Amino acid sequence: LGRKLNSALSNLNKSPVVDEKVLDELLKEITKALLESDVNVKLVQTLKKQVKAKVKPALESTDKSKEGQRKSIIQKAIFDELVQLVDPGVEPYKPKKGHPNVIMAVGLQGNGKTTTCTKLAVHYQKRGFKCCIVCADTFRAGAFDQTRQSATKAKVHFYGSYTETDPVAIASEGVAKFKKERFEVIIVDTSGRHRQESELFEEMKQIQAAVKPDMTVLVLDASIGQAAEAQSRAFKESADFGAIIVTKMDGHAKGGGAISAVAATKTPIIFLGVGEHLNDLDRFSPEPFISQLLGMGDLRGLMEHMSDLARQNPDRQKEMTKAFEEGKLSIRDWREQMQNIMSMGPLSKITSKIPGMAGLMEGLAGEGTDEEASRRLKRLICITDSMTPAELDSDGMLFLRIGKDNKPTGVTKRVLRVAKGSGASVREVEEVLMQHRMMANVAKQMGGKNGMLQALKGMG
Ligand code: GDP
Ligand code: MG
Repeated sequence: LGRKLNSALSNLNKSPVVDEKVLDELLKEITKALLESDVNVKLVQTLKKQVKAKVKPALESTDKSKEGQRKSIIQKAIFDELVQLVDPGVEPYKPKKGHPNVIMAVGLQGNGKTTTCTKLAVHYQKRGFKCCIVCADTFRAGAFDQTRQSATKAKVHFYGSYTETDPVAIASEGVAKFKKERFEVIIVDTSGRHRQESELFEEMKQIQAAVKPDMTVLVLDASIGQAAEAQSRAFKESADFGAIIVTKMDGHAKGGGAISAVAATKTPIIFLGVGEHLNDLDRFSPEPFISQLLGMGDLRGLMEHMSDLARQNPDRQKEMTKAFEEGKLSIRDWREQMQNIMSMGPLSKITSKIPGMAGLMEGLAGEGTDEEASRRLKRLICITDSMTPAELDSDGMLFLRIGKDNKPTGVTKRVLRVAKGSGASVREVEEVLMQHRMMANVAKQMGGKNGMLQALKGMG
């Protein structure tokens, strides 16, 4: 699957003329890959249309010298549209410290709710929140035992009952008790099955009305496939959830169905379950998700093709669209800007004043404090000290190259070397690269890096 796509992409790169036929061929391969991964047919058709509309002006231009530009416009359009698929443009709820944040998990039995509740508790506990779980599943035999066991293992407080059969009563009592005890993240686990579906939805509504969650999370199994649309709509109607967690991403399914749930309910995915253990919870981010969906390497391949075009021929580089050009910001530039920002005062204050920066900082700070975010940023900056001058002056793409064997590991020797040199994890090095890319995007939005420099200076 991935190989086919890659060859379609390299056909695009090799072909001397980029015309509608070449584009159609490429889109056909991408369509096939997406459909095989259970992405909704309608969504795939829309994606195709949108890519075509975006690149139409470039294809119709008769200017022969703009051939290279054409390719990069096509590749960028595809990349952007794919990421669009999993980005509904809605901000999920963020738990706040010193506040009883109530999170309620819903979803059909077996999708991973109970496991995910404990994982969430562990996640927020690591970030300094006082966490607990309320087991409001009275339908499944042994539900409370399951909660008790996993919560005990995770050293998380829990509440439930062996005798009470009313889930609404348990939920209200548990939440009230934990609120009184000043817990900060109170997670309510619910039942995923009933004698009748209507009873399940009615129960969810009642629990929701009783505990008034700050966020309801729909837990979806990655293997849901084409059923995702109808199922997520049904849940949205009765329990208006504000976030999605896709579980079992470590398995065979790539979660293509989950994309339909995002599209049908305009709700963002916030985490991915990637295993049965308590720590197997990853923050969701669109790029790796799409990469995995298409067969890793394809998306990176796309990006690499784009930067290759820029490197091969400096003249051609000049021809590239202005936006693409201005989005280029070296890692050295990134480091400089981050050092500037750090010297200006509390991170959250600074970033809230610069348009586009609030989102950029979120990944760093998460739900944590300013000091935590600063410490994290300092650590990321330190990692760049293990990069060579050429790497620092690069746009970061050279870190993304995949091996000759086209293995879907995605981790290059370069990344490993920097990780080793700086005593950081591979993930942290990748985070530097991701932060850098995000800033490059912000720079682009603000009219090039000079625009951003102006904005930063204006604040000093
Ligand atoms: P619930 O019925 O929705 O509460 O689902 P459970 O939490 O009881 O999970 C059902 C099964 O899925 C259990 O065997 C879990 O260990 C397993 N499971 C849950 N999340 C994941 C995941 O991310 N990866 C894998 N491999 N298994 C998971
Ligand atoms: Mg359960």
